[in-house]
Amino acid sequence: MDLWYSESHTENVKFSLKIKNHLFSNKSSFQKVDVFETYEFGNLMTLDGLVMVTEKDEFIYHDMIVHPAMAVNPKTKNVLVIGGGDGGTVRELMKYPSIEHVDMVEIDKMVVDVAREYFPSVSCELNNEKVTVLYEDGVEFVKNKKNLYDLILIDSTDPIGPGEGLFTTEFYTNCFNALTDQGILVNQNETPIYDEFFKVGISSNRKLKKMFPIVEVYQASIPTYPGGYWLFNFASKNLNPKTDLKEEEWESLNIKTKYYNPTLHVGSFGIPTYVKEKLADGTI
Ligand code: SAM
Repeated sequence: MDLWYSESHTENVKFSLKIKNHLFSNKSSFQKVDVFETYEFGNLMTLDGLVMVTEKDEFIYHDMIVHPAMAVNPKTKNVLVIGGGDGGTVRELMKYPSIEHVDMVEIDKMVVDVAREYFPSVSCELNNEKVTVLYEDGVEFVKNKKNLYDLILIDSTDPIGPGEGLFTTEFYTNCFNALTDQGILVNQNETPIYDEFFKVGISSNRKLKKMFPIVEVYQASIPTYPGGYWLFNFASKNLNPKTDLKEEEWESLNIKTKYYNPTLHVGSFGIPTYVKEKLADGTI
């Protein structure tokens, strides 16, 4: 009998992957964690039944949450990652010798343990001496932090369960205060393909615009994420991702990437008209 994993993207749309083995299943105090071995995408981790990371396409998401900001400010030294328990975001950050320290604040230790066991190529830099992994709630962690980080990456789940507080004006304000003058914040901003997801994206984008002078949206195609098309917010105190790209300086660092490059960077900020319009007028 064939085994299939399925995720409903809407009540009328389902995404399914054929399964070889169900490798891990357990419930933490925050969420249900499962790992499946799939035929097409390698190992797959789900949280509360939703796709988080697959071995085959994780490189796209992790390249795009890290490198656009690093190519705009290659002199970044101190970074805060909120969430990111699979370790892929930290792996990409550790490719930059300029980075002196990364705090990764992940609420659920089970996710990190499972990533170490079943996703070694993703979690491979979590023991790096420049990295501190803190098992705390990111919402609480950023409170009362002032002028500490050059870059904050919110690599979170959707705004349900533990991730809910990571999409609030209060949280974004605390992040703004925790950033240095050249500070940049990047968060995953859902897909515009399905209204229920895009409502979250539009709301998050609007909240960031209340405090950051520069907020731009960029895109990437991620096959296992809803709609296969994903957006990110680039919120910045000073540096503009469209006009402050340090292409030559970034190229001179010889950072090995599988998805990101400076030409793609420029294109990724060229978002479709319907997305621009809906973000501008805030209507679905
Ligand atoms: N790339 C994935 C996505 O876009 O869906 C996210 C991957 S990462 C595994 C998401 C992580 O955020 C999870 O490990 C989850 O435990 C963590 N998380 C959720 N809410 C959190 C919070 N309030 N503080 C810290 N980490 C949180």
